[in-house]
Amino acid sequence: MAKEKKGVILDHISKIYQDPKTGKDFYAVKDTSLEIEPGSFVTLLGPSGCGKTTTLRMIAGFESPDEGEIYLGGEPINALTPNKRDTAMVFQSYALLPHYNIFDNVAYGLKLRKMDKELIKEKVTNILKLVGLEGMEARMTNQLSGGQQQRVALARALVIEPGVLLFDEPLSNLDAKLRVNMRTEIRRIQQEAGITAIYVTHDQSEAMAISDKIIIMDQGVVAQMGTPQEIYYHPVNEFVADFIGEANFLKGKVVAENEVEIEGHKVKLGDLGNRKVNDDCTLVLRPEAAIVADEGQLPCVVTLSCFMGSYQNYHVKVGDTLVKITDFNPKNKKVYEVGDKAFVKFDSESVHVI
Ligand code: ADP
Ligand code: MG
Repeated sequence: MAKEKKGVILDHISKIYQDPKTGKDFYAVKDTSLEIEPGSFVTLLGPSGCGKTTTLRMIAGFESPDEGEIYLGGEPINALTPNKRDTAMVFQSYALLPHYNIFDNVAYGLKLRKMDKELIKEKVTNILKLVGLEGMEARMTNQLSGGQQQRVALARALVIEPGVLLFDEPLSNLDAKLRVNMRTEIRRIQQEAGITAIYVTHDQSEAMAISDKIIIMDQGVVAQMGTPQEIYYHPVNEFVADFIGEANFLKGKVVAENEVEIEGHKVKLGDLGNRKVNDDCTLVLRPEAAIVADEGQLPCVVTLSCFMGSYQNYHVKVGDTLVKITDFNPKNKKVYEVGDKAFVKFDSESVHVI
């Protein structure tokens, strides 16, 4: 449906703001370079204040970068005002016109462009079909549910056929169940429309569920960009590992090729990269990648054992280190109780070393 799928490049982008409290300048976004492929769904993910909205607003043209250049479809766009950029934005607040009906809300951008009436009707009808609001043209937007309003906002952005669609936490005002439904809808619509999408959220499960690639931001810089699997299984640092999913961090020291000592116990591992004997390292062990067993790599004492239905939730101590373990489908397994001595058992391939 889009005229042309466009890629986005940020080339050493920075944005400096003044802290209102101290009056000092700081980087809200610092020296960020990244490439977003045409037609892909990319999510900016990170904690509140890390610079997601600022990055998105610079792409949309509501803010200008203090350093660097932004390219859209290969063209530098820093000098262009928002309406001259081939982007459209969907906001958390929907930003609908309250005294207009659905049709007029969606048609608004096309009327501004002085498009022919018949063509406007055709385009609006098609888009409303795509977002599931067919036949609701005459409804006033202030009579709609949150989910319906969000669909109107999405239709309004899509109808102008932008090269890139931008979303800033578009589902934050919806209840949990609707949020899950709408994110699937947004992904379907993006794929059907064949449009490039850049999506901001602080919700890691939302990011995992809808993205081709996730960009994790930390204090104004990109901590990591990759597919959900790359980010989950190969986080570059503890911040990323902790932000996406749950993680145990085991501090160790390399004692031989493919061998690390943790809390006084030697553990064989896979490839340790460039690490040499005596180097410090941290093992990232996901709770679902380990089980509690009678034999295993690390002796432990159980400090919490809790039946959760689909899994047994354990906390165990390996020396001074707390390890959280989710042992799935415990129905026919031995269950360990608090105080039991056991072992943490895992597949060496499931451990990521940072
Ligand atoms: P996020 O969307 O990731 O929560 P933002 O991009 O909105 O973060 O903000 C990044 C940082 O920049 C925050 O510290 C925020 O307080 C600050 N900030 C955002 N906009 C302005 C502004 N107009 N003036 C000063 N500081 C700002
Ligand atoms: Mg924000």
